[in-house]
Amino acid sequence: GLLRDGEVRPTIFAHMSALAAAHGAMNLGQGFPDTDPPEVVAESAVAAIREGLNQYPPGAGIPALREAIAAHQERFYGLRWDPTSEVLVTAGATEALAASLLALVRPGDEVLTLAPFYDAYAAVIALAGGVHRTVPIRRETVEDAGADEADGARVRLHVDPEELRAAITDRTRVVLVNSPHNPTGMVLDARTLQVVVDAAAEHDAFVLTDEVYEHLVFEGEHVPVASLPGARERTISVGSAGKTLSVTGWKIGWVTAPAPILEAVTGVKQWLTYASGTPFQGAVARGLAMADEDFAAIAEDLRERRDLLVAALDRIGLPLVVAESGYFVLADLAPLGAHDAAELCDRLPEKAGVAAIPVSAFLPEGEAGDWRSWARLAFCKDRTTLEEAGRRLAAWA
Ligand code: PMP
Ligand code: GLN
Repeated sequence: GLLRDGEVRPTIFAHMSALAAAHGAMNLGQGFPDTDPPEVVAESAVAAIREGLNQYPPGAGIPALREAIAAHQERFYGLRWDPTSEVLVTAGATEALAASLLALVRPGDEVLTLAPFYDAYAAVIALAGGVHRTVPIRRETVEDAGADEADGARVRLHVDPEELRAAITDRTRVVLVNSPHNPTGMVLDARTLQVVVDAAAEHDAFVLTDEVYEHLVFEGEHVPVASLPGARERTISVGSAGKTLSVTGWKIGWVTAPAPILEAVTGVKQWLTYASGTPFQGAVARGLAMADEDFAAIAEDLRERRDLLVAALDRIGLPLVVAESGYFVLADLAPLGAHDAAELCDRLPEKAGVAAIPVSAFLPEGEAGDWRSWARLAFCKDRTTLEEAGRRLAAWA
């Protein structure tokens, strides 16, 4: 029934990856890394399979992983969660978000996100019968911020804290925060996040925070919402091993929240997948125990690849949002004659041999607004792929 309303649309990622494969294009569309996971993580999964850890795990996740998630949050953020009552392992952040929203949102309740937003949010809010409200991320062009004159303009993003505060009302059931942010790569600062927490407290709303890119920050600092004053009691935090450990296909994610809230989320989760990924759970526990330097090295390596893609796009002279975090750069394709990036992105794999995602995929249907000519390009790819994609785009442009 929901497909009828256009709220639950087919995912753009499957569509663009299929187009990329059909035309042998460099796939800068779907955000998955083409690097391997850390050796100890991969070996640990292989060993678990060989040792016979292939049947259902406990519904809430194996104790070793729940303990590793708690230990990781304490080490990096000083947050303490009881591994048995406040940590839940899920089938990726996707299930964590779905179970949380289905547990909290009653038909007609409002859920607030920024716009653009990660596309799964709109779909799951609709599945829960919620009403999706958004606050825009605003653009501001900074002239001559590139390294040399030929570079395209740099575009900075900001969220108006007052606009955010005003959007949180008694009708708001959940404020769904995402920092580091997909698709923009924005890292929200503590001040903006505190506005959310305070307004949520005032209106008795929950804060659901999607922090899957927590370790992939290049500029600024990741602030976990749950660590802010007054946040913990109403905050549900979502994480995932996919991005941090380069294992997006394993689909191991988690939720941390105060026990009564986690109980409700677990209640939904048991009827979605019940449990998943037994041999991967122990391997992710090993990964979360890596040294601080190993986490830092992942971000550093990714930052270099970001810069490589930025340099390639600069040579074409496209206005860019240079990501502060995550996997993606946003580019304005208007200089290439694109008024509608969605239309151009459909042709790009065949014409230019490169795949990208239109930013309109991260906005409500038909509401691309001033993002209409913008596209998202992934840099979580190996250097040869990024260089070849740059050459192809320049040749085609
Ligand atoms: N949230 C955001 C912001 C994401 O970018 C993604 C995936 N790229 C997810 C959630 C889903 O994570 P998972 O693959 O662990 O389900
Ligand atoms: N989250 C990834 C992205 O933003 C893709 C996830 C998916 O394919 N569902 O590209």
